[in-house]
Amino acid sequence: MILDVAIQGITDPYFFGDLLRRLAEQSSVPVCINLDHGKSKDACYQAIQAGFTSVMIDKSAEPYEVNAADVKDICEIAHSLGITVEAELGHVGDAANAEVDTVSCLTEPEDAKRFVEETGVHCLAVAIGTAHGKYPKGFVPKLDFERLKAIKETLGADYPLVLHGSSGMDDESLRKACQSGINKVNIATDLYEAAAEAAAECLEGNKKGRLWRIVKDALRYKLAAKIKVYGSDGKAWDIKPQGLPHKPITLEEV
Ligand SMILES: [Zn+2]
Repeated sequence: MILDVAIQGITDPYFFGDLLRRLAEQSSVPVCINLDHGKSKDACYQAIQAGFTSVMIDKSAEPYEVNAADVKDICEIAHSLGITVEAELGHVGDAANAEVDTVSCLTEPEDAKRFVEETGVHCLAVAIGTAHGKYPKGFVPKLDFERLKAIKETLGADYPLVLHGSSGMDDESLRKACQSGINKVNIATDLYEAAAEAAAECLEGNKKGRLWRIVKDALRYKLAAKIKVYGSDGKAWDIKPQGLPHKPITLEEV
């Protein structure tokens, strides 16, 4: 299980690092604490210091060379500490601008190969037709499965790929994406919507019980259903846990 933590705007990553690490250590399944969309090298270094076990450095809006140089810098530090690194190549944009953002800046397989070789990054977020947030009413995102297949073949079957902007997509497409080479699925908006709908039902008197518990359960049920769609239910221990606290690992182990 990966806790993807967006800490933009949060002034104290150490508080979250401590809290999440304690919870992770008590979990019955291995848990990774990942910084989502780290916007700067400093943000990544802070997260590592705060106890995160993985960081994403997202320079996907920058030119290739800037992106690759920063990712390489983070990887050099992170690898020595046993921290895994995620980066993004191509750019997963904003669902509010879906007509443009789901078809532009898609990941090119040959660029992905060069990027991974140059940086040593552990896993790569790819742009194959999704966007972050909530799509406009009636818009249905279409995944470029041919592109995904080509990226996977180019990088190798064992290289982990990440899908960002996975909300608002039909289950069949998500299932197929996971079967076609996506190893990590980032999802937030669908979970927030499930919680908001449950809260509204409770406040309107259609659901009995305490509001906080109803919201929490709605999140859990939605997430559990998604994990089933991804084909990941009951498989947490199939992945070799890297363990807490940090310990050095080699690229071959990832
Ligand atoms: Zn994202």
